[in-house]
Amino acid sequence: DVFTRYLRLKGDDVIFVSGSDEHGTPIEVEALQLGIKPKELTDRMHEIVKRLFELWEISFDNYTRTESPVHKEFVKGFFMKLYNNGYIITREDEVPYCPKDKIYLPDRFIIGTCPYCGYPYARGDQCENCGRLLEPKLLINPRCAICGSKPTWVKTKHWYLDLTKLEGKVREYVEGNTALPENARQMSLGMLKEGLKPRAITRDNKWGIEAPFPGAEGKTIYVWFEAVLGYISATIEYHRNKNSEDEWKKFWLDENSRVVFFVGKDNIPFHVILLPAMLIASGDPYVMPYTTASTEYLLFEGKKFSKSQRIGIWIDEALALMPVDYWRFVLIYQRPEGRDTSFTWHQALEIINSVLNDVIGNFIHRVLTFIATRFNGVVPGGDLKDVDIRYRDEALAHFKNAEDHYEKIELRDALLETVEIARVGNKYLNERQPWELI
Ligand SMILES: [Zn+2]
Ligand SMILES: [Zn+2]
Repeated sequence: DVFTRYLRLKGDDVIFVSGSDEHGTPIEVEALQLGIKPKELTDRMHEIVKRLFELWEISFDNYTRTESPVHKEFVKGFFMKLYNNGYIITREDEVPYCPKDKIYLPDRFIIGTCPYCGYPYARGDQCENCGRLLEPKLLINPRCAICGSKPTWVKTKHWYLDLTKLEGKVREYVEGNTALPENARQMSLGMLKEGLKPRAITRDNKWGIEAPFPGAEGKTIYVWFEAVLGYISATIEYHRNKNSEDEWKKFWLDENSRVVFFVGKDNIPFHVILLPAMLIASGDPYVMPYTTASTEYLLFEGKKFSKSQRIGIWIDEALALMPVDYWRFVLIYQRPEGRDTSFTWHQALEIINSVLNDVIGNFIHRVLTFIATRFNGVVPGGDLKDVDIRYRDEALAHFKNAEDHYEKIELRDALLETVEIARVGNKYLNERQPWELI
């Protein structure tokens, strides 16, 4: 949101999209437990999430959902292109089944030891500890996440994206991309070094987008692979609603367009490897993503945020504690760029009092009241003395630095430079004491 607002102020042609990721077995399981249909659950959740983004003043042009008909139609068409271009293969696969719960276990419902780092609670799709993508079969000592039983393995046929065939072009993209942050670059190069293997893109669960491939009746597209296409379908939907559908192409099919994703580091593989691979495989002239602004983790008082252990601050409760501008300022001030950072109440209050209020708030208040009380709200003209010019140039230098940081999506540094502008302003007022001059 901060980056988008910067681009809009600059006068760039920008569209800011996102959406609720609604499909997949975890949602199916939760709906089952609540005794409602998955769609009823996500209808409810989507409205809540949308409302929260509004309260936080996140200025999306389109916040949509993966249940949107535009998205579903786009995903099916997109995957048929991959199929027709020869990038989809089938394989007989053994999938985990829990004999006690009597369900096929989706990747996130099977846990075991990570074969790469030894973390004992790695999920079947990804290891939270080292961030590597996994397959349930790779887990050592696998167990059902619901009941802890040892799963049995059942044979089923699945459709795979042939990443091996796309590896060369993906490597070219990653190696040639100088805008990627260091964490995204390192993790992606590491994955490429190990070699890309075909990945299953279909699942046996019912709640999702039907796999469009011949013979794949009853299967759905694996959520990860359709959700990332939501950035494109959200752009199409936005313009279709404005009766200017073709306009979406200037954001996705024009080589001068810059596509930027904002994610946490656990999302790097999907945005830097898998989505670019899919764009290449489509054969359409998509612009390759300019960068993925992947942050490290924000911790809460030194600990990992956890819903189940109730560690953290709930986003709906947060606004009862402090106004939204305070939150936005603190969160960008501590944005985990380059390293994990920890939110602490002590530090948050310090930042609000001694930076936001004392430096920026004070400067704005002094300037506005002075102009209002002495000059009827009109900024007066007049000749600048050397000292005025010196301060003006100093402020402009920080302005320029802030702009440079925004261009590199270093939002934290851009904010620090913005604070410096106000600091220079306060120093100027103290030294010149304009109220003594008139
Ligand atoms: Zn691991
Ligand atoms: Zn079980």
